[in-house]
Amino acid sequence: MNSTTPKSVTILGSTGSIGRNTLNVIRRNPDRFFVKAISANKSVDEVRKQIVEFHPETVVMIDPVAAETLRKEYGDMIMTGDDALNEISSRQNIDIVVAAMVGFAGLRPTIEAIRAGKRVAIANKETLVVAGELMTALAKKTGAEILPIDSEHSAIAQCLIGEAPESIKRIILTASGGPFRTRLKETFGSITLSEALKHPNWVMGRKITIDSATLMNKGLEIIEARWLFSVPLEKIDVIVHPQSIIHSLVEFCDGSIKAQLGAPDMRLPIQYALGYPDRLAHEYDVLDLLINNRLDFEQPDIDKFPCLRLAREAGERGGLFPTILNAANEIAVEAFLNEKIGFDEIPRIIEQVIQNSPRDSAQPLNALSDDSINKGIGRIYHADAKARENAQKLVAKKVFVS
Ligand code: MG
Repeated sequence: MNSTTPKSVTILGSTGSIGRNTLNVIRRNPDRFFVKAISANKSVDEVRKQIVEFHPETVVMIDPVAAETLRKEYGDMIMTGDDALNEISSRQNIDIVVAAMVGFAGLRPTIEAIRAGKRVAIANKETLVVAGELMTALAKKTGAEILPIDSEHSAIAQCLIGEAPESIKRIILTASGGPFRTRLKETFGSITLSEALKHPNWVMGRKITIDSATLMNKGLEIIEARWLFSVPLEKIDVIVHPQSIIHSLVEFCDGSIKAQLGAPDMRLPIQYALGYPDRLAHEYDVLDLLINNRLDFEQPDIDKFPCLRLAREAGERGGLFPTILNAANEIAVEAFLNEKIGFDEIPRIIEQVIQNSPRDSAQPLNALSDDSINKGIGRIYHADAKARENAQKLVAKKVFVS
């Protein structure tokens, strides 16, 4: 990217944790970036502040009532609806799209951004989990750049610079282990919502915080890494590293291991994705190795955290299984957040939905032509809806595999 002309940015999900951190990065780098469009769900007050400070050309509110409220104040620049979301992702005068919506809802606008050949800074890992095969194939055709905002994947991308793909022996994703790393499995049924929402190292949105507590987050990240770096699943390992100082590692064929270290601050991977290949100077906390002078590692406990196994299995089966896994997880996590099910019931619902899914779900998503990309997306939407329906039934009935 040319560093002299400021780049225009669309932020999908501007009021979430990643969205607000992205605005923080843009605020500190006004000579490099400016906000062209934002989207949010219904946080009217927060969006109002963002409009005043960043002067976006367009604001898309997912919630029509919130859109109407803001339209009275700001007129036609306030939009709503899926088409508006797709438009601000693919508009000609946009350089970078930050995909920071939560969950499957971010899929269509992210695809549109890739189709339009944008730089897509992607925090919305669920889209890569369900459609990574199609997204990476499409990006190859359109010249779109997909750059990870996820801290682990940003670390891997940084470790891979200058390295030949065939020299990668394995990718090692680090996991903090979440708040229940040392808790006894027998007590998982009594985990409360507030306990699960307390992540030891990172401040994040509610959905990803629960995913981190079940280790589903790491499972999704395995699948995410596979598509981002074109590395087979069997070459992607997970290691628990409670301090979250090493953000991930790559082992090469000569036995050498490269790691990226840093303070747990999402602004670093965000500005790396926005500014790549440049590194931007910053004023954030610097990692002091004399204070953070200890790095521990342990094996993840698959028995205690079955979501990690379920995600890997879904990735191995391929096709629509990652979509089914993700949909069931989104419903189960939402039910847990609404205190309708227990923490230990999240993996049981997911496992049951996967078991009940159609046999042909493993059929690959062919991504060779425009037509097949659209067909693939159609299949993903259908499988997602079915899996959600099944998961909702299980939540209502509370009947799971034990
Ligand atoms: Mg991560």
